[in-house]
Amino acid sequence: MKKPLRLFPEAMKNLTKKAATSKYPFEKAKTYPGFRARIVFESEKCIGCKMCMRVCPAGAIEIVLSAEQPAPQTAADGSQIPQKKKFDCIMNLDRCIYCAQCVDICPKKALASSPDFELAQFDRKKLKLHYT
Ligand code: SF4
Ligand code: SF4
Repeated sequence: MKKPLRLFPEAMKNLTKKAATSKYPFEKAKTYPGFRARIVFESEKCIGCKMCMRVCPAGAIEIVLSAEQPAPQTAADGSQIPQKKKFDCIMNLDRCIYCAQCVDICPKKALASSPDFELAQFDRKKLKLHYT
């Protein structure tokens, strides 16, 4: 054990230093590039390949056909041209471990990590997000 007198210079040195910790939650927390928190989804980019579902180690992500599909277009000859299918993403935040494997595997960059980490809820149902 260090003698108290030997600790004194160190204590004095640290008294004059800037605090190493932040005052969160009284001050907004800083996040940095590459920070992994809530996963976000862009439906327009998704092709429904479900690679994200296969790779997710926690079974936290579901890709489902959207209830609202774009209407088919009519070609000049009167035939119907089907539109690209629309998919929704259901994210279970209570299961997600924020590993971002789904982000890395997505071939269309439809998923991304956001810096939104303040996700605590009293009601567990609110941890199930439906991205359309
Ligand atoms: S991996 Fe990407 S494109 Fe494929 S279903 Fe998931 S979000 Fe959609
Ligand atoms: S971040 Fe990891 S745990 Fe969360 S949905 Fe993506 S693959 Fe699953």
